[in-house]
Amino acid sequence: MSESARSSKSECTNSGVVFAADLGGTHLRVATVDQSGKIHFRLKQNTPQAKTPDEIVRALVLAVRECEKHCDAVGEVIRAISVVVPGSIKADAGVVVKAPNLPCLDGFNLTAALAAELRRPAILENDANAAAIGEMWQGAGRDRRTIVCVTLGTGVGGGIILDGKLWRGVNDSAAEIGHMCVDPFGGVACTCGSRGCLEVYASATAIVRMTREARLRYPESVLHTSENLTSEEIYRAGTRGDDLALEVFRRMGVYLGIGLANLINILNPEMIVIGGGVANGWDLFAKHMNHEVAERAFPLPAAEVKIVPAECGDDAGLLGAARLWFSANQLSV
Ligand SMILES: [Zn+2]
Repeated sequence: MSESARSSKSECTNSGVVFAADLGGTHLRVATVDQSGKIHFRLKQNTPQAKTPDEIVRALVLAVRECEKHCDAVGEVIRAISVVVPGSIKADAGVVVKAPNLPCLDGFNLTAALAAELRRPAILENDANAAAIGEMWQGAGRDRRTIVCVTLGTGVGGGIILDGKLWRGVNDSAAEIGHMCVDPFGGVACTCGSRGCLEVYASATAIVRMTREARLRYPESVLHTSENLTSEEIYRAGTRGDDLALEVFRRMGVYLGIGLANLINILNPEMIVIGGGVANGWDLFAKHMNHEVAERAFPLPAAEVKIVPAECGDDAGLLGAARLWFSANQLSV
């Protein structure tokens, strides 16, 4: 474990805690969470570069054992295991269908393996769906019933909660907001096989790509010769008035606004919550995003919807994972 921290609130609760795990392509974050949404103990480590699912299961089991030591010390009990993964899943079966950043898990029944090892119930969810639930429970979407959560990270994820219920679709495939087409003509190829998806214009990867593509036209830019561009570096340049960075975030905001206008017209949500690392560039893209929404969305739903940054940060998925367990009905939040 490379990092650990104990929250200030570590008192015992009668109802026990859920072990929540956010299994990302880079980091494995875990936490014990109680039913009021307090994180009692957390750990973070690098995700094992696993060739077999057993290595992932072992890492999760070891993390549970670490959390158990803390729980024993304060008289808590871990009631259940809830894991979120960056990929498509079958929630009822507990099976990872396809996880591009963790391909060893494709087709693997993760909940059955964890339940057998740990002798506790285990559930599985997609990371963007869990983030939406986390934001509605403890973040920007508190007290709302119909929200859309868009996560702008390496890719673009989405979660849709309609009238308090996570909308998974008929076979758990809904809310692929990152793969909504926003540029049908000459659109950039996407990893999903389509072209012109929102993800290829609004993700961190897209911001770096758009900067590389445009920088020959901006010889004065501080980014003109930068070797290892990152979206953070491009954002910082933008805050200092760099024309290339400002143009990239303008384009990103325009495409994002087109996507959000489509969501607003179809779903009429109370709120759209925008999270993920790229959301930190809010001051550079929000104006352009809001302009497109105003141009394209119907006036009534556009006037109603609040478009806001996420509040839970990296904890959204962990909180959502825990909430999924605590909900009496696993589809209701
Ligand atoms: Zn796509």
